Amino acid sequence: MKKRAEIVIIGGGVVGASVAFHLAARGIRDVLILEREHEQGRGSTGAATGGVRAQFETEINIKMSMYSIDFLRNWDHNCEYDPKGYLFFATTDDQFDYLKGNVEKQRSLGVRDVEVIDEKAIAEIVPGMNCEDIVGGTFGKNDGFVNPLAIMRGFTEGAVRKGTSVEFGVEALAINVDAGRIVSVETSHGIVECDAAVICTGARAAEIAGSAGICLPVSPERRQIVWSRTREPLPQGLPMVIDIGTGFHFRPARDFRSGSTRTDEVLFAYLDPDETASVRTDFEDLFIAKVYERAKLRADFLFESEVVREKCRAGLYENTPDHHAILGGCDFAGLYFANGFSGHGVMHSPATGRALSEIILDGQSSFLDVSCLSLDRFAKGELLHETAFI
Ligand SMILES: Cc1cc2nc3c(=O)[nH]c(=O)nc-3n(C[C@H](O)[C@H](O)[C@H](O)COP(=O)(O)OP(=O)(O)OC[C@H]3O[C@@H](n4cnc5c(N)ncnc54)[C@H](O)[C@@H]3O)c2cc1C
Repeated sequence: MKKRAEIVIIGGGVVGASVAFHLAARGIRDVLILEREHEQGRGSTGAATGGVRAQFETEINIKMSMYSIDFLRNWDHNCEYDPKGYLFFATTDDQFDYLKGNVEKQRSLGVRDVEVIDEKAIAEIVPGMNCEDIVGGTFGKNDGFVNPLAIMRGFTEGAVRKGTSVEFGVEALAINVDAGRIVSVETSHGIVECDAAVICTGARAAEIAGSAGICLPVSPERRQIVWSRTREPLPQGLPMVIDIGTGFHFRPARDFRSGSTRTDEVLFAYLDPDETASVRTDFEDLFIAKVYERAKLRADFLFESEVVREKCRAGLYENTPDHHAILGGCDFAGLYFANGFSGHGVMHSPATGRALSEIILDGQSSFLDVSCLSLDRFAKGELLHETAFI
């Protein structure tokens, strides 16, 4: 293994891969990705369902998404971007006002093809859904689906072609700092000296940050997903459908590992209030009953679907107190973070990689000002506010 690299990236998920890709695009060849597993995609990236959306509440999330969706749509690597849309619906006037306010903001920032729709239009987009209690919703046509593993591989291959090295089965154990700057990363295979390091270790990033005495407020939380087979093929063009009140959501299922193109498989989940911070990634049968209780109220085609137990899964969200990412440096020169995506790390990976490469090489991100996502916002009490969190 290399004993020195200009820049070490700790963690080879979609985020670490994107940072490497964007550094390589700027001509930085001496980059080393350290991945503790024996292959990529065993962290949150491999559990992600692959939704992309510009329908957020805060300006920074909307702009991160706009940049990233454009990137994914135009990328010469096939990441399976499929603009099936995201449909948010409201069952109270307050929720509907909130969604309408978000659309106004999204449009003012340049999001195209996002609209406020009524209950009738919702029933047309999702035939078979019970819309009796729905007062309205919003639909973003350019939102949709991607293949998280394909994005991760595309970034990695692009970086490796330009000189990046990847070491598998190597765990970063500690960050070593001296005289106010990073000097090396201690790993399970020895010390790697470096000028800079980027922590891209997903949900468990607080552990490695803590080795340098930094309190990184990233908390892991399990997310479970039920995978089911419907009696009939799903309605054609079914988008991601989200109840903004409960977080209950469903979408056509995609098996990224097998590449199956079945049209009768659906994923559904909701924000389980019983879930607390933990690194558990086991799937519990109890969750199936909870989800079906909600499915029963929403659509027969969901309620009557048959669970494909072996495809149900759980992974970790990497939550921050304000549900926004932490991007940028800290008090130690050369030490950077790309963490805490709170469930949006796949869709925001293109903007994240570019922002980090610019922060490392130029001192700031100029294509998009991401300074509101810096770590010091927590100490300064400058938290952001996003409730379109699922
Ligand atoms: C069920 C579920 C559904 C989701 N759906 C979506 C979605 O629709 N859209 C979306 O945008 N996001 C979604 N997400 C969130 C998304 O998966 C994450 O935000 C994203 O994958 C984060 O990528 P990452 O590279 O930071 O983390 P990871 O993919 O977890 O990668 C981190 C890597 O670091 C490695 N690592 C950790 N510690 C060390 C160490 N000490 N040394 C070396 N290597 C280390 C790990 O092995 C891992 O490979 C979902 C998440 C879950 C759980």
